[in-house]
Amino acid sequence: MSSGVDTLRLSAEGARDLLASGEVSPRELWDAYRAAIDAHNEELNAFLTLCDEPNGHGVPIALKDIISTKGIRTTAGSRILDNYVPVFDSTVAANCKAAGLPTLGKTNTDEFAMGSSSENSAYGPSRNPWDPTRVPGGSGGGSAAAVSAGLAPWALGSDTGGSVKLPSAFCGNVGLRPTYGTVSRYGIVAFSSSLDQVGPVTRTIRDNAILYGIISGRDEQNDSTTVDVPPVELPEPGDLKGIRIGVPRQLNDVEGIEPGVKAAVDAAIDQAAALGAEVESCELPLSVDYGLPCYYLIAPAEASANLARYDGVRYGPRSDGDDFREMVMRTRHDGLGDEPKRRIMLGTYALSAGYYDAFYGKAQKVRTVIKREHDALFERYDLLVSPTCATTAFPIGARTADPLAMYLTDLLTIPSNMAGLPSLSMPCGLSDGLPVGLQLIGPQFSENTMFRVGAALEAEIAFDPVPARLK
Ligand code: GLN
Repeated sequence: MSSGVDTLRLSAEGARDLLASGEVSPRELWDAYRAAIDAHNEELNAFLTLCDEPNGHGVPIALKDIISTKGIRTTAGSRILDNYVPVFDSTVAANCKAAGLPTLGKTNTDEFAMGSSSENSAYGPSRNPWDPTRVPGGSGGGSAAAVSAGLAPWALGSDTGGSVKLPSAFCGNVGLRPTYGTVSRYGIVAFSSSLDQVGPVTRTIRDNAILYGIISGRDEQNDSTTVDVPPVELPEPGDLKGIRIGVPRQLNDVEGIEPGVKAAVDAAIDQAAALGAEVESCELPLSVDYGLPCYYLIAPAEASANLARYDGVRYGPRSDGDDFREMVMRTRHDGLGDEPKRRIMLGTYALSAGYYDAFYGKAQKVRTVIKREHDALFERYDLLVSPTCATTAFPIGARTADPLAMYLTDLLTIPSNMAGLPSLSMPCGLSDGLPVGLQLIGPQFSENTMFRVGAALEAEIAFDPVPARLK
């Protein structure tokens, strides 16, 4: 801290201003974060790989280890990629480089981003900076823990079913899952291609908007599913006059919701109304009933195809076998953990001859129903709000024995993802000393509206993102 940089409190924008004014040099800024990492990473296990030298002169960033980085080990949290060093940059990593952001390192994730707690990582779980006996959420627990503990000013995650939003909620960060197609998936270790989307994890709404501006946009060369994105508007806190907010009953009055979570979310909704928003209760029954079961058909089906490439020939460690077939079987047996294996089995079954229409085909049709149900609400509302999760961060080990309990953690983040919509989690208070996430959901390309509403609420809520035990 000799440079006077307080990494626990500094926003990325604040860090950028310190660099611009010359008050702090790029090296001093880098060293401040490295010192914080040295002090806390052993306990938190947020980073799997650290970079020794800065590869840029701007505000440093941490990247989830799902994001391919040229010359930097990229494991996806799996033993099967333990020694994998990509020979190319993902588009998002290249965009960060082009913006001058040096990579601090690669952050821990559930294996292949499959999980809600980071406990499925082959490299051990990350821990929650607010309470290290608890999970930081998943799959991007490393990125969220790093930002929350001041080990990085900002980070990237990826959100297939909630892996940016949930860890952001559990660690008190702002996390955006962008509109599907606004951020390139080129070089992202593929899990479920029709759902995967990279998004920013930050301490403030404005930082989130800045980072979204850096990573988003059409990737002409490498990802034909991307589109041109409306220019990002940096939000200023203001009133919410003219904003219509729907409060879907099924996402808010959810069974088993913690009273402290409900209280914090309801208070934030009241604050939105006090700022001038029109707030109204509404219904989203089909999306909440069918979102999760459909996700657990589609995501494993796509994962089973995407993970077929890990055969011991092209990437990672190889196990011995008498012939090709045995080598592949042993490599996958030794290299993949239980969760990817479970999903490969579920997905392969769902895609097998005779079952495709009944399972994958049917789930895709239901997905259209979910999309339409959301679209109908967006004729009346600019945004929908709900808790990001019905609970705060749970103790390490609490849900590992029961995959279904783990899957249910994402009940509230999955429906809008299934519809390809953007959504954002922001802190709205504490419940028993742990952060509570407020989820904003918008129509396609409504990121600017979410930033505007987020900035207004952020100023009003005045959440202190520094974990109490680190103060
Ligand atoms: N927890 C969900 C899953 O296990 C979502 C993960 C994600 O968004 N990558 O699939």
